[in-house]
Order: sequence, then C-alpha cells, then structure tokens
Amino acid sequence: MLNVSRRELVIGAALAAAFGINPRLVLIAPAEAQPAPGPGMGFHRYKVGSVEVTALYDGIWRKPHDPAFIRNASIEDTKAALAAAGMTTDYMPIPLTVVVLKVGDKLIMIDAGSGVGQWQPTAVSLPANMKAAGIDPARLSTILISHFHPDHIFGLMEKGTNAPIYPNTELVVSAAEYQWWMEPGRVEKLPDARKPLGARIQAVFPTWKNFTLVDREKEVVPGIRLINAPGHTPGHSAFLVSSGREQLMISNDTAYVPALLAPHPEWQGTYDQDGPLAVETRRKLIDRVIADRIAICGAHFPFPGAGAFTKDGSGYAFAPVQA
Ligand SMILES: [Zn+2]
Repeated sequence: MLNVSRRELVIGAALAAAFGINPRLVLIAPAEAQPAPGPGMGFHRYKVGSVEVTALYDGIWRKPHDPAFIRNASIEDTKAALAAAGMTTDYMPIPLTVVVLKVGDKLIMIDAGSGVGQWQPTAVSLPANMKAAGIDPARLSTILISHFHPDHIFGLMEKGTNAPIYPNTELVVSAAEYQWWMEPGRVEKLPDARKPLGARIQAVFPTWKNFTLVDREKEVVPGIRLINAPGHTPGHSAFLVSSGREQLMISNDTAYVPALLAPHPEWQGTYDQDGPLAVETRRKLIDRVIADRIAICGAHFPFPGAGAFTKDGSGYAFAPVQA
C-alpha cells in the first residue's frame, strides 16, 4: 500500500517503479521543483513498456498573476499553493511540453505545440528541440489532438498564412471537440478573447482533408486509447498508452498546473470552460491513475512533464519527475 506524504517524496528507483514511473526518472521533492529545463536540456526520453516517449520542451508562459485565473481561489491562495510546491510565486509558471511516441516504427505526436511564438513569445522551442532529439516532423504518421486551445493547435498552422505544417499526417481528434468549435454561430457566442481563435479554427480546419474524428472512447493507434476527459473543453481528451504491463496516461490539460490542482482539485480555472465538469473529470482521472498505478504526464507539468499523484486528504499530492 502506497501512502506517501508530500514531505517524504524523495523517491528511489523501487518506489518509482511501484508508481509505474520509469526508474530512470527520479521523483523529486516539491522544494526542488522547477518548471523549465536547464540550458541544452530541451528533450528527454523514457520508456513505457516498449514505447519510447520523447518529451519536447516548447517553452513557458510566465503568466502575471490574475485574480480571474482560478475562479474559486484568490491570488494569495494560488501563491500559497505555488510556494508549497517549491515554485516561484513571482508569476504563474505555465510550461509547455509536447510528447512524441515511438510505437514500433511509427512516430505519434500528442498535440502540436504553440507554433513558435503564436501563443506566447517565450514558447518557441519545439522545432529546435524536435531536431535536437532527431525527430523528423515529416515522419510523424499521426498527431493525436487533445483539444483546440492555442497552445495545443497553433503548431499545426504557419503563422500568417495558416498553411498546414503537417499536410500528410493523420490528425485525430474527438468528434465532440471538432463539432463544438465548428458549430454555425459558435464564434459569435464565444467570449471576445476567444473569438479570433474560433474564427481561425472555422476558417482553416474544414479546408484540411487529414482529420479523423473519433466519436467514442477507443483505440486510435495500436496501444493508444482515446479517453474522454471533458470540462476543460467540451471534447477534451486524454490518451492512455499501454505496452506490456506499463501504462502512461497522457492527461493533457486535465490537471494543467498540478502545483495548484493536486492540492485543490476543486479549483476551476478560467480556461476550464465547464468548471464543475472539469473538476469531476480531474478527480476521476487522477483517482484512476492512482488506483491502477498508471504513470501520468501533462502538457503543463514541470518539464519533462511527468510525475506521480498520491491521495492527500481531500486532494492529492503531486511529485514531478526530474529528467
Ligand atoms: Zn494547455
């Protein structure tokens, strides 16, 4: 029975294995948590069974504190959570990591990153880190898309022209996500800050022929299952990788900044479109990875973007892994 408190989390190989984390990754104590990699450390590889996972760092949004960021918490509350996780309180650290899976001879990417500054000027590193990792973008057979927020899809489109960067790669997304954004009248109904995003999606994606829409939970690539994880957006998806006896839950934005949402899973972010549903989904997914000892990674977890949750009172403790 694993019952590890936040304060005891410097974890060796045996316990890492028990969590389902590759023993070559080391779970680190919160006081040492850093959101971004050191210089020259822009990618990191680990294995899930026979699947090779490459975590590619895209960049970080040092978001100024904003009382609206969490609807049911104050700036003081969010700063206290960051401090408890050993992170800076000067700003809200939102790093972005993109994952590429090598399954047999196929390369599968999860989301496409933020498009070299199209989301934040400090998130430009995905192409360079992909190159450093020896991954040829033209060889990607499939991109599994979690949802249609800028940091996850702007990397599909050239800045200015919206030309497709992956015209020959299959783009898999839940039908719920695609259809919600594509609904007639959708752009007018979006809040003003989201209208340009909605308009871009509606102008560009219908002209592409390489989308595959998935209308239920199922295996989308051999060994990879789409998991419905709605709330952050209507069709937000996680992806569960299974190989041999090991599994990895690619949770995308279900628990986006775990320094906040592990101890306070009930917090509703401004980017959670349906706050109560996002909370329900978050608890369900984290409970599942704890119960089934599934390793977990997330797009906005501290680089290299993986970690482990344990139960802690009415919430959870999160230990990031260190490359
Ligand atoms: Zn995101």
